[in-house]
Amino acid sequence: MDKKDLQQFKEQLLDMKQAIISDVEQTLSEISTQSGNIPDPNDRATVESDRSFELRIRGRERKLMDKIDEALHRIEEGTYGICDGCGGEIGIKRLEARPVAELCIDCKTKQEQLEKAQGR
Ligand SMILES: [Zn+2]
Repeated sequence: MDKKDLQQFKEQLLDMKQAIISDVEQTLSEISTQSGNIPDPNDRATVESDRSFELRIRGRERKLMDKIDEALHRIEEGTYGICDGCGGEIGIKRLEARPVAELCIDCKTKQEQLEKAQGR
């Protein structure tokens, strides 16, 4: 992978990060607006369940955010695009589809089969 590719993936990862941040900020401001003044207890229940839904989303975003940071770190270290499992190349095509990938498709498939076998 050359410098130009790396730069492109870096920008893509930073864009993804920015999208999550603005998404979370919007969610947070919506939550604080909603929970401000609700007279009807039934409405309040709806807001509460909406809120736990939002928090779940944020848990998933949080995980993706960690993955993005790890990928950016790998770019700095010069190990980006190298499979964490076998040390081979992950491949540009796979990284284009999933810039945070840390395993090549073979290792990923094996991992998924293993997780399935373990019932996770
Ligand atoms: Zn691999």
